[in-house]
Amino acid sequence: MVDHETPIQTPPRIIGYWYSESDPDWPDVRQFVDAGWDAEERDGLIAYLTADVWPSYRYGGDSTCRFCGIPNGSAEPTDGTFRWPEGLAHYVAEHDVRLPALFVDHALGRTNAPDVGKGWWMSQDSW
Ligand SMILES: [Zn+2]
Repeated sequence: MVDHETPIQTPPRIIGYWYSESDPDWPDVRQFVDAGWDAEERDGLIAYLTADVWPSYRYGGDSTCRFCGIPNGSAEPTDGTFRWPEGLAHYVAEHDVRLPALFVDHALGRTNAPDVGKGWWMSQDSW
């Protein structure tokens, strides 16, 4: 029986996990590089991703940067709408990774993000 009294909570949508041999279903980060991306937008996004206000979950073991191989964090911050790996800002700041407009517009306060699930992120192959 469906309980109509309990509102359905949409879990935060996932973004920023990248393909590796052990995670073959995620998008390939190399398809998201854009060295010509607007610097103001890029800096705004980095500030958003690294803002010291997001609650985060911590996992055991650092993720490894898909480009340079450094240990790239083990936490997963969330703004309540999206959740992303702590190391996502490193990709944006150091490897010219540009994220899809749906997320950038949300982060920069231009739109309310539409309701998308994990499949949305898995289906991204570039911006
Ligand atoms: Zn790196």
